[in-house]
Amino acid sequence: MIKSLWNEKEAQIVNHDPVAQRVYSSRLLGQEPALVMHGGGNTSVKTQSTDILGETHEVLYVKGSGWDLATIEAEGFAPVRLKPLLKMAQFNELSDADMVHLQRAAMLNPNAPNPSVEAILHAIIPFQFVDHTHADAVLAVSHSPQGDDIINDLYGDRVLVIPYVMPGFSLARAIYQHTRDIDWSQYEGMILLHHGVFSWGDDARTSYERMIDLVVISEEYLTKQEALQQQALSTGAEEDLLQLAELRKSVSTLRGGPVLAKWDGSPESRGFSEIPGIVSVANNGPLTPDHVIRTKPRPLQIKEDLQESLSEFTQDYQEYFQRHSNGEQTCLDLAPRWAIWPGYGTVAFGRSNKEATIIADINRHTRAAIQWSKHLGGWHPIPEADTFAMEYWELEQAKLKRKGTPPLFQGTIALVTGAASGIGRACVASLQAQGCVVAALDIAPDLHTIVGGDDILPIHCDVTDLVAVEAAVKATVRAFGGLDLVVSNAGNFPPSRSIAEMDNALWENSLQLNLSSHQKLLTAAIPFLARGVKPSVVLVGSKNVPAPGPGAAAYSVAKAGLTQLSRVAALELGQHGIRVNVVHPNAVFDTGIWKPDVLKERARRYNLTVEEYQTNNILHTNVTSADVAGVVSALLSPTFAKTTGAQIAVDGGNERVI
Ligand code: ZN
Repeated sequence: MIKSLWNEKEAQIVNHDPVAQRVYSSRLLGQEPALVMHGGGNTSVKTQSTDILGETHEVLYVKGSGWDLATIEAEGFAPVRLKPLLKMAQFNELSDADMVHLQRAAMLNPNAPNPSVEAILHAIIPFQFVDHTHADAVLAVSHSPQGDDIINDLYGDRVLVIPYVMPGFSLARAIYQHTRDIDWSQYEGMILLHHGVFSWGDDARTSYERMIDLVVISEEYLTKQEALQQQALSTGAEEDLLQLAELRKSVSTLRGGPVLAKWDGSPESRGFSEIPGIVSVANNGPLTPDHVIRTKPRPLQIKEDLQESLSEFTQDYQEYFQRHSNGEQTCLDLAPRWAIWPGYGTVAFGRSNKEATIIADINRHTRAAIQWSKHLGGWHPIPEADTFAMEYWELEQAKLKRKGTPPLFQGTIALVTGAASGIGRACVASLQAQGCVVAALDIAPDLHTIVGGDDILPIHCDVTDLVAVEAAVKATVRAFGGLDLVVSNAGNFPPSRSIAEMDNALWENSLQLNLSSHQKLLTAAIPFLARGVKPSVVLVGSKNVPAPGPGAAAYSVAKAGLTQLSRVAALELGQHGIRVNVVHPNAVFDTGIWKPDVLKERARRYNLTVEEYQTNNILHTNVTSADVAGVVSALLSPTFAKTTGAQIAVDGGNERVI
């Protein structure tokens, strides 16, 4: 049951400024995902504002598009003059594209974000504060077979109840017509059937707390009907990560680029997936109309034969498009956005981690709401034609056209070892900057503080331990749905020792880490790479392979073995389209290997100062970890799509190598 989060002490701090109050209570709404999720819902405040010429206007500060209520700031509200908005409400006709233009033209600050498409509706409501949510509980009641009657019974005369109308100008116009002769003050809010709730008040608290009160009415009803308690749970089947990777690869092909697949194998998700007939129920449509833009109208149903399941989905989507298109729309890609996987749960697909996470969140709420409505007799969101109108809304189609080129590695899943320092850390940064999600493996205890961010999965892992390596690869697939790129980099530079004086433990340890660990990683990764998108591996070798130095046998031999391993891997894995290449860096001094004493000792061995030693190459240049990471990223990229089994030096040019 949701509760008011209003804190009078905190609210007092912003009491002097209506926009600051608006920010405060908008964030309270945003904190409750059962009310608004990911850009759903919007809020506004009406106040006076002076423009640059010194003229004072009545202004509607309304949530700007692209802002989330949970984190909104004052600049997330678009200041639109109220008068033009009220004039627009009186138009008989206005395309939504023209509405957006007129709203922008009426803004006091041309740099502010686009006002919400529900701005005119906010303008019509004659109260200073207006709050709007897409509350799960109200929607679940509304989507049940007797939803209209139940809503009318529950809310009586407290709210206006409005049948579903497409958001945008049509909705604003419908409300304007409907409310011309009413006394607004007799209502606390408005329920838009199958869409959401509005509340209002002359102060921020009244409007916010009315919203909470109105939503609680539906929650109490659902509780009384024992609907809210309906939540199927199951421990389901064992995980099947190979099938997940297969699924992700097929969806990526349909999408025209790699996607991430977020599998939700929680007991709630698995329980949902096992409800008999759940797919045909979910096929009736999304929780709120705007979700369709992210989720498509229907989920993919995963059956025994994956390819057959996918072709059923694409055929169904094409038929849906043809049923409703008037010839002016361009059919979107045919890839599903989420899947019901009986026994295993649900999967959300996204071109980025953010997109996949948003869809996974929507799935979680939809799953619950479907079960509540089902308990009341069935799940009946808006008719398919209205869903289509939303999915192919001119404003959404225009947005798609504006989308620029995605980053090179968007939707790609990488794994990097030795990720906490030097070359590994630089590779993580380079791949992340180009759109990859990256599993960052290292033995460093402080790994989590070194690498981080939404797109990074830090995994504490000793790469010489096969069990740990296999677990890390699986954790990567579990988190993102597959594996495309591997940078096998972990290594160390043992203390200098002549063969005559070789310490056996030193020798064995070097071979374990600098050679065998790479084999373990390849062996664990290959089944997933074979199901990856444009899969590619780079192993980090050393200049010591073509040009060894005295005293470094344990290191040079291991790196030479690693090079041979990669050549054989290139031969074996070509049949799966997996490319394998090696880089041979030299004298990269910003890595964990080069402790000052090691550096000094190596310089002395060549009768050079440390500085001379650092730039002792043909180009007289300092080779950095970032330089090596740049070459590694390039080798992993489509630029080198036709290259496998190659060895590339990153050493500033070395006479002994050339
Ligand atoms: Zn809405």
